[in-house]
Amino acid sequence: MKACVLHSPAPIQGNPLEFADVPEPRPARGEVLVRVRVCGVCRTDLHVIEGELPPRKSPLIPGHQIVGAVEKLGEGAHRFAIGARVGIAWLHRTDQTCEYCREGMENLCDAPAFTGYTDDGGYAEYAVAPEDFVYPIPEKFSDEQAAPLLCAGIIGFRCLRLSGIKPGGRLAFYGFGAAAHVAVQVARHWGIEVYAATRDSKHQRLALELGARWAGDAAAEMPVKLDAAIIFAPAGELVPAALKALKKGGVLVLGGIHMSPIPPLDYSLLYQERVIRSVANNTRQDGEDFLRLAAEIPVRTQVQLFPLRDANRALNDLKADQISGAAVLDCRT
Ligand SMILES: [Zn+2]
Ligand SMILES: [Zn+2]
Repeated sequence: MKACVLHSPAPIQGNPLEFADVPEPRPARGEVLVRVRVCGVCRTDLHVIEGELPPRKSPLIPGHQIVGAVEKLGEGAHRFAIGARVGIAWLHRTDQTCEYCREGMENLCDAPAFTGYTDDGGYAEYAVAPEDFVYPIPEKFSDEQAAPLLCAGIIGFRCLRLSGIKPGGRLAFYGFGAAAHVAVQVARHWGIEVYAATRDSKHQRLALELGARWAGDAAAEMPVKLDAAIIFAPAGELVPAALKALKKGGVLVLGGIHMSPIPPLDYSLLYQERVIRSVANNTRQDGEDFLRLAAEIPVRTQVQLFPLRDANRALNDLKADQISGAAVLDCRT
């Protein structure tokens, strides 16, 4: 099959993904083989490719927002019919035995596997995953509309949940890429007032189009005090600015898997019971709850489609803030 393969981490400007012929994966016991139609491009892919996350597998096929059709069942797999449309997301597998899994916090599992990081992902014509970790895709969405829901959407949803924001509350997003452009729609559905801090004027426009009350530069003063804020951009220097914008008791959620160092904080920014917390991965329950809600709203994703062979270009555009909404690879070669 055709796939985009990473041999060793390198800056994306050097186009490190090789478009190559590789053996088609085989579904192991309890797994399904999925014929990939599209695969969303996530900032985490960039962190994996550029080596900001320690390498876990080489060579590696990145990509963890896979939409496709079940093509073959591994031994003992019976959850899906052949041809069923499914999604494979970041959480590839958990052990189900560690203390976190037993407490319903499988997102914090001690021995997790991640799609497109510890295991091959969806920048390819085929991918495999345990059937228990695969999501049925609501009919409401086209393949390319659905792809960004699988990470940007689910993680943004978990960030919203952990922010504790309530209807009528005031919430800011720092960074307005794929995750925020979905989360703003969920927040508006819940009756939350949204403020978008992003340096790019294109992204500011998109935020306003999607119902944000205000959009401006992160360095600008927020026009109101916030109940909660979510930082999606991988920039630690945003933490003091976001804390400064919070009300007493406000919650700051850090939504990324990687962030540049956070500068020293003056304690007064945190005092008055302000909270900073990170978000790590998601549970399958988050994924199922989010996909149901996204179909109900319905969320509309804005996608920019690239052919699979142009994955390097899509990632370069993502790094340069050139993507409005989400980039998606068309893997039907
Ligand atoms: Zn576990
Ligand atoms: Zn992701």
